[in-house]
Amino acid sequence: QSAHPEFDVIVAGGGPGGATAATLLAKRGHRVLLLEKERFPRYQIGESLLPSTVHGVCEMLGVSDELARAGFPVKRGGTFRWGANPDPWTFTFALSRKLAGRTSTAYQVDRARFDQILLENARKHGVDVREEHEVLALIEEDGRYRGVRFRDDSGAVATAAARYVVVAAGSSTALYKGVGERVYSDFFRNVAVFGYFEGGKRLPAPNEGNILCSAFDDGWMWYIPISDTLTSVGAVVASERAATIQKDREGALHGFVDSCPIVRDYLSEARRVTSGKYGEVRVRKDYSYRSTRYWRPGAVLVGDAACFVDPVFSTGVHLATYSGVLAARSISTVLSGSLPEAECFREFERRYARELEVYHTFLQAMYNINESESSYFWEARKVLGTDQPDEEAFVDLVAGVSAPGASRFGDALRDATRPESLDEGDAVFAGEGTRFLGSVLREAGDLQLRAVAGEQDGPEPGMFPDGLVSSADGLSWERRA
Ligand code: FAD
Repeated sequence: QSAHPEFDVIVAGGGPGGATAATLLAKRGHRVLLLEKERFPRYQIGESLLPSTVHGVCEMLGVSDELARAGFPVKRGGTFRWGANPDPWTFTFALSRKLAGRTSTAYQVDRARFDQILLENARKHGVDVREEHEVLALIEEDGRYRGVRFRDDSGAVATAAARYVVVAAGSSTALYKGVGERVYSDFFRNVAVFGYFEGGKRLPAPNEGNILCSAFDDGWMWYIPISDTLTSVGAVVASERAATIQKDREGALHGFVDSCPIVRDYLSEARRVTSGKYGEVRVRKDYSYRSTRYWRPGAVLVGDAACFVDPVFSTGVHLATYSGVLAARSISTVLSGSLPEAECFREFERRYARELEVYHTFLQAMYNINESESSYFWEARKVLGTDQPDEEAFVDLVAGVSAPGASRFGDALRDATRPESLDEGDAVFAGEGTRFLGSVLREAGDLQLRAVAGEQDGPEPGMFPDGLVSSADGLSWERRA
C-alpha cells in the first residue's frame, strides 16, 4: 500500500455512529470516504433518542436546526408502568438541572429519515459518501489495517487505502472480527418482536411524546409515538421464546399486546400497519454483546459494531454517536501528529468501555422489577454518589448527562436556561452501585454542554487522572495542561 493513501479515513457504515465519526473528521479537514451498503432512506429500529444525542452530538454535527424542522415528536421524558407500583409514573428530563430549558428534550424519530439527515449532513461537510457500496473485508498489512476491499454499486470489487478504518457497520456484519471477539451478555438474553400501529392513543399532554414502557408477565413492552398517528410497539421477552415467536411473529406480537393491559388499552382503536417499510413484524435477538477489543492499529469499532446493551432506556444511538465522537477525536489527534496512537486509543477504549459498563450495571438493576419506587429513588442517588434529590439523580442518569456540579459549564447553562418552575415530573429508578457512574455521566454531560456553550469554555476537566482531555472544540485530545 502507498505511504500516502488516497483517504485519511474510511468509514464502513453510514448509520448514526458512522455518520458522526465521518462528519467530525471532515470538520477537521481530513479526507473521508464513507461506504454504506444500503441506499438511504433505509429501515432501522431504535427510534427513541436521548437529550445528550440531540443537544450534544447533533449540535456538534451542525444538524440541530434541520432536526427541529423535521417535526419529529418531542420527547420530554418517559412514562413507566414498572416496579411494585401498579400505576404508571413519569419522569421529565426538565427535572435535571443540566437539561433545563431547550435542552431538556429529545426526539422520537423515524430512523430512516433521521439517519438520512445525518448522512446528508456528512456529505455537506465534505465526506465522500457512497451508498450501495458494501465493505467486504479490512485489509491488513504488516500488523496494521490499511484499507478495505469493497463491492461498488455496479457489483465490481475494488480496494481503497486509508490511514484509518472506522467500522460502524452495525450489529449484523462480521467486520468487527478483525478487531475483537464478540462476547454475549449472560444477563440480557432476550428477544424483541415489534411492529407499527396507526391510530394508537397518546399519553395526556404535555407527555404525548414520551416513550411508554410497561412491564408485564412475560417481559416488557415499548410504545413509542413516532408521528401524531404512528406508533412503534415492541415486546421484549426471554430468548427461550424466540423459536415460537419466529413461527408466527404477528400472532406473537398481538398476544403480547393482549397480555399487557396499558398497551392493549392504548391500541384498542388502532390497526397494525401492513404495507411499506413499517408493514413487517420484525424480530431481533442476541443484541446484547460487547467486543473484547475496540481498536487495533489502523482500525476502530463504533456503535453496534462494538457493543449494545438493551433497549429499555434507549441508549443505542447515544452509544453509537458518543463512540463516533471519541473515535473521531482519537483519529484526528493521531493524524495531526500531536499524540501517539496508543495513548489516544487508550483514552477512546477506556471511556467507551466505562460508558457501556455503567449502562450494563444500571439496566441490569432496572430488570429487577419488583422493587418499590422509594428504593429505586434511593438507589439512583447512591449510584451517582451525589446529594441531589433522588428523582433528579435518576433523570441525569437516564438522559446520559452528569450529576449537578460535575460539569464546568453546568451552572452557567442552568442559570441561562432553567425555567422558573418545572413541570410536574416524578422520576424513579436506580441501579446497582458503580464507582464509574459519576465520571461517565460527567463526560456525556460535558459533551452536551460543550455543544451548547460553544468553544470558548476551554478543555474539559478529563475523566481519568492519568488520561487525556478533549480540546475546546471537542474534536481532538490534549494532554492536561
Ligand atoms: P446502524 O444504525 O445499524 O448502522 C449501520 C449501517 O452500516 C447500516 O446503515 C448498514 O446498512 C451499514 N452496513 C452494514 N454492513 C455494511 C458493510 N459491510 N459495508 C458498508 N455498510 C454496511 N437505540 C436507541 O437509541 N433508541 C431505541 O429506542 C432503541 N430501540 C432498540 C430496540 C431494539 C429491539 C434493538 C435491538 C435496538 C434498539 N436500539 C435503540 C439500538 C439501535 O438500533 C442501535 O444501537 C443503533 O442503530 C446503532 O447505530 P450504528 O450507527 O452503530 O448502526
